Formats: sequence, C-alpha cells, structure tokens
Amino acid sequence: PAVSVVCVGMAGSGKTTFMQRINSHLHSKKTVPYVMNLDPAVHSVPFESNIDIRDSINYKEVMKQYNLGPNGGILTSLNLFATKVDQIIALLEKRTAPNPETPSAKPIEHILVDTPGQIEVFVWSASGSIFLETLASSFPTVIAYIIDTPRASSTSTFMSNMLYACSILYKTKLPMILVFNKTDVKDAEFAKEWMTDFDKFQAALREEEEAGAFGGEGGAGGFGAGSGYMGSLLNSMSLMLEEFYRHLSVVGVSSMTGDGIDEFFEAVETKRQEFERDYKPELERKR
Ligand code: GDP
Ligand code: MG
Repeated sequence: PAVSVVCVGMAGSGKTTFMQRINSHLHSKKTVPYVMNLDPAVHSVPFESNIDIRDSINYKEVMKQYNLGPNGGILTSLNLFATKVDQIIALLEKRTAPNPETPSAKPIEHILVDTPGQIEVFVWSASGSIFLETLASSFPTVIAYIIDTPRASSTSTFMSNMLYACSILYKTKLPMILVFNKTDVKDAEFAKEWMTDFDKFQAALREEEEAGAFGGEGGAGGFGAGSGYMGSLLNSMSLMLEEFYRHLSVVGVSSMTGDGIDEFFEAVETKRQEFERDYKPELERKR
C-alpha cells in the first residue's frame, strides 16, 4: 500500500528542495511517486507535480479579492482548496490501486506533499487539519519535519525547533521523522548527540552562556543553565523531551548532494509500520 509523506518545517528549512531530491531519488529507483504542491505562494516548483494548488487557486487574486495580506492569502487559498479534498483523495485512491487495464504498470507507492513556506498556516489551520486527517484516514501518513541544521546549531534555536516539532506531533498525532537538512553545510552529529545525551546538551548550553550568547554574564541573574529558574526548567524539559525523542526517527540529509536519502526512506518504512500498528487504531477509535 502507498505511504504519504508530508513535508513541514520553518520557511527556508528546505522543504521544496528536499521534495525535489526525494522525488528524483524515487524516479531513479523506478518507483515514480505521486506529488502534490500545497504552497499557493511559491513562484516556481522545481519538480513536476501531479496536483498543484496553484492550478486551481490564484493566490494573488485571492489576496486582491478578499483584501488580504500574504498570510491571509495563503490561508484563504488553503481553505478554498480544502473544499476539494474528497476529490483529491478519490483520485489518489485510484492512482495507488492496481489498474486492471495496465497490470504491468506498478501502482504508486509514495505520495509526496509539499506545504506552504509559513509552517503555522498549514499546521494550525482548520484546512490543514482537514487535509491531514483525510489523508491519514486513507493512507499511512508520515510527517517529515525539515530542520535547517546550520541554523539549529545554537542551543536556543535547537530547543525552539524541538518544542515546535513536539507540538506538531501532539497536534497531528502522526508518526514523525526529524530531517536535519543541509548537512553539506553543517553535520547533524551534534543534534543526534544532544537528543541522546541531555548532559551534552546542557554542557553546550553552559558553553554558549559563558561565551555570552544570551547577553548576560554567565548565569549571574539566576538564569544560568546550571542554576535557579533556568536550571530547573531545563531539567523538567529534559524529561519531556526524552519522551518525545523516543517517538521520533532522526536522519541527517543534504537535499543538495543527496546524502542520507536512503536512510530517510528506511525511516519512512519504519514509520509506516508504526502507523499501521500504533496510530491507525487510535485514529479509528477517534472516529
Ligand atoms: P522551503 O521554504 O522550506 O521550501 O525551503 P527551500 O527548499 O525553498 O530552500 C530554502 C533555501 O535553502 C534555498 O536557498 C535552498 O537552495 C537552500 N537549501 C535547501 N536544501 C539545502 C541543502 O541541503 N543544502 C544547502 N546548502 N542548501 C539547501
Ligand atoms: Mg517551499
């Protein structure tokens, strides 16, 4: 059965470039995916998509007609598109089923979805939820949370990224793969280390603090990682994050060079099985 991979992440994390990479990877393996672009505001998409929100919705016109700014325009475009979600799923179901007329043609195994640059518009909107829920009720669905690795190498950006990913996991209740992208610029080893060994993360925090990264002088006001308010906050967060990390697959990739893409697809397979075993019964109970 087909699995759908939905790419989310902060603007500029590399969702679209990653989509392009996994798309061409699958083409080279002769397992051609079904590709969807849900970003109404993107100028040009560097991959061929089967369904493109821009084909049916003109984002600039939506902005003009409803007198909206860019974010409102994206959101309204998504809402308009969400009214077609049943048609889309019907189409997907047709394309992923074996076709008796062309029995030699392989049915589609992967559905790839690119989402708007501004993550919140998709993740926290009603239409984004409708889309994800409908998709997940028909196909095993995996969230690929794309992270800009070079930018996440400061402890504070890293932490906010993890908390954001955690809130998305909690919101969508779908299996998630953390994709540390741009490893051609910065290796993702540090991130994997911080996620498996919280002491290392705390040590990095202290180091940044001493280097004055937080603008204070080494934890003087009781805000230091090892002291007072911040120390105890971090300790309780470490328990929460440890639990969160246990549910994730983590891969480092470069969408530029293609490094790590095989590992990504191994993680997709793991998460697909997890979806069938753990998530699907839960989704069905909810319905
Ligand atoms: P999106 O907003 O998440 O869709 O991000 P884009 O795919 O548009 O990428 C944002 C910027 O990051 C672009 O300039 C890309 O060329 C760059 N980028 C994406 N992936 C990589 C990567 O693996 N390595 C490097 N060096 N740059 C990347
Ligand atoms: Mg994009």
